[in-house]
Amino acid sequence: MQYRIKLLPPDIDSAVQKDFVRDLSATNMEPDGAINAFHTAAGKFFPDHTVLGVSSGTAALHLALQVSGVKENDDVLCPGFTFAATVNAILYLKAQPVFIDSEKDTWNMDPALLEAAILEGIKKGRKPAAVLLVHSYGTPAKVEAIQEIAERYKIPLVEDAAPAFGAYYNGKMAGTFGDCGAFSFNYNKIITTAGGGLLISKNEELIQRANYLANQARAQAPFYLHHSMGYNYRISGLAATLGTVQLPRLQQKLLRKKQIHSKYREELDGYRGIKFQDLPEAVQPNYWLTSFLLEGEYAKEKVFQGLRNAGIECRMLWNPMHLQPAFRHFSSFLNGVSEGLFKAGISLPCSVSLKDHEQEEVISCLKSVL
Ligand SMILES: *Cc1c(COP(=O)(O)O)cnc(C)c1O
Repeated sequence: MQYRIKLLPPDIDSAVQKDFVRDLSATNMEPDGAINAFHTAAGKFFPDHTVLGVSSGTAALHLALQVSGVKENDDVLCPGFTFAATVNAILYLKAQPVFIDSEKDTWNMDPALLEAAILEGIKKGRKPAAVLLVHSYGTPAKVEAIQEIAERYKIPLVEDAAPAFGAYYNGKMAGTFGDCGAFSFNYNKIITTAGGGLLISKNEELIQRANYLANQARAQAPFYLHHSMGYNYRISGLAATLGTVQLPRLQQKLLRKKQIHSKYREELDGYRGIKFQDLPEAVQPNYWLTSFLLEGEYAKEKVFQGLRNAGIECRMLWNPMHLQPAFRHFSSFLNGVSEGLFKAGISLPCSVSLKDHEQEEVISCLKSVL
């Protein structure tokens, strides 16, 4: 279906396009220079980390888990309320996800349930190999509490900050708390490289190892030499250049995202049972997606159909992983929160390129449907 107002079309304006073409001809389409420039631009956001551009957020997650030591048959604790990419990265390593339900404030992994799962694992002689925390929809999780638990039990912490570039917890960017952090620059994310990702770590050796694996595990030698299996996860020169020209524009994008979110919140919070997140003060989202919960049995379906019939694209919140036919046989620690989010939640169009009159149309359509 073609929507008149799309959920999250990429925001690549004419100024970015112009800079992109200029830089592309300057690099003569050679990838190495383009990738180095991208690493410099991305590295500015992470002065304490080493960064590595890769082909997708999922690739960054796969590499992060592997260099953190996750192996076949290991248990990895991750939220059930997430996008399938989180789970797939675990399964690529033939490890097993254990799903942890959400807490009500940020909709992210519940620290108390996480600790319960760790204790249960230890009791069964299966200490988890890693915690894979997600900052869903660009809203940081209660990451300090989770970092403290991971450190106390000496379990590596990997952050799936795929949608959370530019989101902060207590003044530190999401993705910088764990042993590794992964970001996505997919088409719909706040910065897009038309498909790409970033892996960061304070431990330079982990990034060197990830870089080696991402380049077909080709050893440094005058001939082709491979000591292990590798992947083709390198970021392309074109993607790197598109990222380099967009990264300095993050601040403008964040401001516009927040403006769109605030308008929706002002107009809709409390309207006929609409409820927005009530976030702790430490949490500073990047407002990648604006979402809220609806009250009442059929409210979500009514709004979903009503908006779509009017040519406005909206989306339901994630159907939790422990309910997915592909994943429901894995163990999970549940409290009902993520199922409630799926039953009641809707996301609205909120691209940086959304026009004011389009947003007003979304709001009035929503009000009339309810
Ligand atoms: C977007 C997203 C991913 C996947 O990133 P890709 O670049 O599309 O591979 C993974 N996890 C979460 C939470 C995401 O939102």
